[in-house]
Amino acid sequence: MDSFGLAGMTVHRVEEFVDPNCDALAFFPELTPELIRKHADWLVPQFYEASNNTIRIVMQTWVIRTRHHTILVDTCNGNHKPRPYFPMADQLNTPYLERLNAAGCAPEDVDFVCCTHMHIDHVGWNTRLENGRWVPTFPKAKYLFAQAEYNQYLPENYVDGKAPIFADVFEDSVLPVIAAGQAQMVEGRYQVNDAVTIEPAPGHTPGHYIVRAGAADEMGLFVGDAIHNPIQIAEPQLSTAYCVDGKLAAQSRQRILEDCAEHGHLLVPTHFDPPHIGHVRREGAGFRFVPGR
Ligand SMILES: [Zn+2]
Repeated sequence: MDSFGLAGMTVHRVEEFVDPNCDALAFFPELTPELIRKHADWLVPQFYEASNNTIRIVMQTWVIRTRHHTILVDTCNGNHKPRPYFPMADQLNTPYLERLNAAGCAPEDVDFVCCTHMHIDHVGWNTRLENGRWVPTFPKAKYLFAQAEYNQYLPENYVDGKAPIFADVFEDSVLPVIAAGQAQMVEGRYQVNDAVTIEPAPGHTPGHYIVRAGAADEMGLFVGDAIHNPIQIAEPQLSTAYCVDGKLAAQSRQRILEDCAEHGHLLVPTHFDPPHIGHVRREGAGFRFVPGR
């Protein structure tokens, strides 16, 4: 699945790479072998490797082409960035921009870049290296960041005088965009155009947001890291070790899943394995994932 239609728009998927070996029990601290067994009939092996308790994390960007605009949702890890503490993203040299081009999208075509949050794998291609400097990859785009996400990186907001995780990412992938005058900070609900809206879904990070695209009768929710793996659809209480507020993340997730189940919205997460997208059905007191378009 590399593209699909949505309410008269086209959505393309551009993959950067796949992390095949994410340790699920470390990633979801409250995940247990019992929960895996409970959902094994649909979870294993498509979305969970039971032999070594790993999940696959796909790094990908969604390109939404509306009648008037080209909008990117999340920009993966980026090339040439020093990430010694995260070897899989360290000094990458992937053909991401070539793949974006193959999807019919040149960097100068991009009107808006939506970063659901400022983690390493969601803002990387915001910038690229040019003559030793980080410059915006998408020269004509407005980059939409949540104000609350930005605020946590201001030194006056450091908790106990300590910078939050990925302060280096903020420096090379967000600050150059601000310096170029291409950043727009958004608060609360924000209407990008007549088909696309940003909505807060905090918890994974303070300013995490989701992107709602489409029309009343056909809507897609681009949920970023509000949901990392289908197991969290069946067990919405499972937050990750990287969530700053796991309880709040679970509340945001529950709200998204209720919305999808009730209205039939398409769920478009950032990291799911093939087919990458799906629908959500109510099952008992919880939910079930129905993969595919
Ligand atoms: Zn992520």
